[in-house]
Amino acid sequence: MPLEIRQFPCLSDNYGFLIRDAVSGEVATIDTPDVEAINAELDRAGWRLTHILNTHHHWDHAGGNLALKEKWGCRIIGPKAEAARIPGLDEPVGDGDRVRLGASEARIYDTPGHTAGHIIYHFADDGAAFVGDTIFAMGCGRLFEGTPAQMWASLSKIAALPPHTELYCAHEYTQGNASFALTVDPCNADLKRRAAEVDRLRAAGAPTVPTNLAIELKTNPFLRAADENLKAAIGMTGASTVDVFAETRRRKDNF
Ligand code: ZN
Ligand code: FE
Repeated sequence: MPLEIRQFPCLSDNYGFLIRDAVSGEVATIDTPDVEAINAELDRAGWRLTHILNTHHHWDHAGGNLALKEKWGCRIIGPKAEAARIPGLDEPVGDGDRVRLGASEARIYDTPGHTAGHIIYHFADDGAAFVGDTIFAMGCGRLFEGTPAQMWASLSKIAALPPHTELYCAHEYTQGNASFALTVDPCNADLKRRAAEVDRLRAAGAPTVPTNLAIELKTNPFLRAADENLKAAIGMTGASTVDVFAETRRRKDNF
């Protein structure tokens, strides 16, 4: 039985996600960016919150934990490696662990880089991954607590998921990411087509999240650090993949 997913914008550019296991009726929020928006969406759906699945400790991901736990008595699952910074954490999890929501199951991957203990949740049977601030459509998270080598390894785990996987990113950063991507990967025809499509979607007020892994593999410069055309475009022919990734991330920080 599939997982039902409800997505809604909140704060300035975050997305909230509620997921419901149809067998048990258990409901989780992915992170807690905005308590009022999450409660309003639960009301609209007629769902009762049973779980919080945190990806990392930033305030726009775990800041609503305690208020929601107080209201709903829900169980909080989150990254073991930053357990001390996840308010109300009940169940610390890390790489290779399985998390159950009724009959649905997610596998946890450690994806350090944006924060030191960031995790993602992959629901393989549903082809869905909740990736927090590790990867965005045509972008990736800033390296606040990790090295380029760590982040490249984390992104490589995502790249190795089944290509049909839908990636539920926590922010609508796509249009800015596309503008930047064109500066480092200007000859990429798939990227040019997609950037135009994203402009159309945003002009119509439509979300660009979730994004599909197969499309990211073709258009996300942070997954393409091994691509010879991208290396040549930034003047790094012959450089190592991690060095190319690091330089691309550095350029984005200053874009
Ligand atoms: Zn963050
Ligand atoms: Fe965030």
